[in-house]
Amino acid sequence: MKFELEKRTKGLRLQDDELLEDLRRCAKAIGGDTIETSEYDKIGKAHSCTFRRRFGSWRSALERAGLQPGIWRVGITDEALFENIRSLWMSLGRQPRRSELGLLGSQFSGKPYAKRFGSWSKALKEFVAWVNSDSPEEPQQDDTEANQPVPGSLVHAGPPKRRTRREPSDRQRFRVLVRDGFRCRACGASPLTQVGGELHVNHVLPWSKGGETTDDNLQTKCERCNLGKSNAFNV
Ligand SMILES: [Zn+2]
Repeated sequence: MKFELEKRTKGLRLQDDELLEDLRRCAKAIGGDTIETSEYDKIGKAHSCTFRRRFGSWRSALERAGLQPGIWRVGITDEALFENIRSLWMSLGRQPRRSELGLLGSQFSGKPYAKRFGSWSKALKEFVAWVNSDSPEEPQQDDTEANQPVPGSLVHAGPPKRRTRREPSDRQRFRVLVRDGFRCRACGASPLTQVGGELHVNHVLPWSKGGETTDDNLQTKCERCNLGKSNAFNV
């Protein structure tokens, strides 16, 4: 994610009731009875941090505007709910608990999960099915260029058609990280226990040497080991 400071000048001159009016306008514009800060920051006249300063919290600003303070609203997709579990799981390095949904870093509370799936444990079950449901073996799109014939020649310049795409999907990356316990397979480092570590998912048999992007040809590597490997032609 790109690091940037909150814009602090936008909407500072608006009166409280003008801010609340703008909040209602934006909620209406996205067709809901509530609005999230990220959405408001895209279309609002002010910045969400101004509301926090004036009204104490985003939630109380929503309440003052007569909007729903809950994060739940119609229109959240299953995909968004699952993506939120995935990113929480990745930041914790383990299965998130229901109580952790209200905490910083979670886009949704437990409510939409219970409402959509019946319970948190059922939501997790559905999530697992979703994680496993992408097909890494769909035809790749990123090396079509390599498969184009050389102009004026009848032979194909690129390598033979591959079964998989070069880049693992987000879900596949997640599966590999979970399988490897969020640890580097070479040195055992984990960013959760060691500061400054970042985990990469790369090919065991390099893609450049014909390795496919399948779960069993992917491995978790820490930044240091990954760099060492890339010198050994793992591209
Ligand atoms: Zn390592």
